[in-house]
Amino acid sequence: MKRILWFVGVLFLIGGGDSALSQSYTTGQLADGFDWPAGKPEAPMIRKDNQTWFGTEYYLARGFTEHGHMGEDWNGKNYGDTDLGDPVYSCASGVVVYSEMYPGRGWGNVVIIRHAYREKSGQVAFVDSLYGHLHYRSVRMGEKVARGQKVGTIGKGKNGIFPAHLHFEIRKDLRVGMRRDLYPKTYATYHSPRHFINAHRTLRYESRQVRIPINTFLKSNPNRIYTTKIEAPAPTESTTIRPEVPETVAAAIQSETTTSEEATKPEKSKSLFQRLFGN
Ligand SMILES: [Zn+2]
Repeated sequence: MKRILWFVGVLFLIGGGDSALSQSYTTGQLADGFDWPAGKPEAPMIRKDNQTWFGTEYYLARGFTEHGHMGEDWNGKNYGDTDLGDPVYSCASGVVVYSEMYPGRGWGNVVIIRHAYREKSGQVAFVDSLYGHLHYRSVRMGEKVARGQKVGTIGKGKNGIFPAHLHFEIRKDLRVGMRRDLYPKTYATYHSPRHFINAHRTLRYESRQVRIPINTFLKSNPNRIYTTKIEAPAPTESTTIRPEVPETVAAAIQSETTTSEEATKPEKSKSLFQRLFGN
């Protein structure tokens, strides 16, 4: 009996020691730039009716604030649930480090993608982009995704508790995962998504592969919540790439949509709508 216990102890030490010391990596390409997660990839950010718009299709329903809202809420131009089911795209090339129905706090389906990119200083850096309240997820954990690849669709959160919108975050701290409660709710942990994206629109293409750390959520979160298996539909359409819109067509859409009074008029229920926005 003693001998068996000793043997089990040695196995534990080997296993525990190994996982505590080594960091796991995958390889991937450096992002060649960052785009918006919905609508036209590089739509100009404009002010209209005291709101920030991403082109003419989406507006910022709620922005990033330290100690307040750790990401941005994107809602469709016609407000309310009109954006339900709209495609959500990976803002840059990267690897899926989380794709699950998260059981807590109305999150619903969540996808987190890790991106490697080169900072202006020359340093290789990493960020995680998070897409929350998704109706469907269309990528799997560990999958490599391209810039503009569809990762899911806009949803209403767990049990449909919110008006449809995309909750979008960019994290500089790769340990956060679904445990925002364990890390400072400040710029030390997060970027303001639209500012980060605007500052990293175009990055030089580099063909070389870099090491991208993975499994960072698990190691740093001793109180990690184990999510249960879910009955979400199997991922599909994982190879969908955002279609190119020819310039002439884009210009036509622009001219037809910018003059519409209906599209820019906020609904009466907007304050309620905004109050309902969670996470
Ligand atoms: Zn939100």
